[in-house]
Amino acid sequence: MPNIAFVNGRFMALAKARVSVEDRGFQFGDGIYELIRTYGGRLYHFKDHLERLEQSAQAIGLPFVYSTSRWKAVLEKAHAQSGYPDAKVYIQITRGEAPRDHSFPKKVHAGVIVTVRKLAPLRPELREKGASVITVPDLRWGRCDIKTINLLPNVMARQKARSAGAFEAIFVRDGLVMEGAGTNLFAVIQGRIVTPPKGPAILPGITRDLVIAQAREAGDPLMEKGITLEELLAAGEVFLTGTTTEILPVVKVDEKTIGDGKPGRITRRLYRQFLQTTRP
Ligand code: PLP
Repeated sequence: MPNIAFVNGRFMALAKARVSVEDRGFQFGDGIYELIRTYGGRLYHFKDHLERLEQSAQAIGLPFVYSTSRWKAVLEKAHAQSGYPDAKVYIQITRGEAPRDHSFPKKVHAGVIVTVRKLAPLRPELREKGASVITVPDLRWGRCDIKTINLLPNVMARQKARSAGAFEAIFVRDGLVMEGAGTNLFAVIQGRIVTPPKGPAILPGITRDLVIAQAREAGDPLMEKGITLEELLAAGEVFLTGTTTEILPVVKVDEKTIGDGKPGRITRRLYRQFLQTTRP
């Protein structure tokens, strides 16, 4: 079962895929992306991901290239060729190939890439015992709500976490915790589920939305509001959400143990509920 790529209209083995050195994604990070995962061969929340991709395209003045049905057909064909039941389906749109100049090229032929890779699940003990995270200053730009391929601050932060033996790095801006390098952040504070509000400082995570909807449906008290670092350290439970991370308990923040050092009751219940939604 191979990893598959789709590059500007052509399907191929991922190992054979190439882009031009003049692609503006490569030169400037001038592009956007999405990551969708499949459960048992089905694209999970395809429409939500595609809507967010369209919003990112609009935000940077990029044509959306394909209709929804064409996107779906391309993703399904690439996925079928891979044969992986559980896969990571990555979409990238860049402002295409042009001589290097910061301003937009006159004629834009967006570069479209789709890749399908096998999904490696998280280590089971990470889910069972919970993860540790570190906090880092948020050095990112002012539009973190756009899913751009400019990820250097995220790359640096994630590497800092890995070097410290932690799973994720949490960005802190003006004393408030924002989100992880590739995940959204939730805490349970005085029995209430709290997560930072949507806005330019965080990515509007699809999993974040699903967890909020799920918690509301279950009647859990939930608030979207700023969380200070002090509040996070004193929280009863902390967890991360993301397409591949799903819902992951956090038991340590900057060496401070969260709650009793074990995955919290609310986090575990939300994860069980979440898993139900991934089944056909
Ligand atoms: N925050 C950031 C910075 C991310 O990069 C991601 C996912 O890539 C998320 C949050 C989680 O978003 P989603 O649940 O849509 O995967």
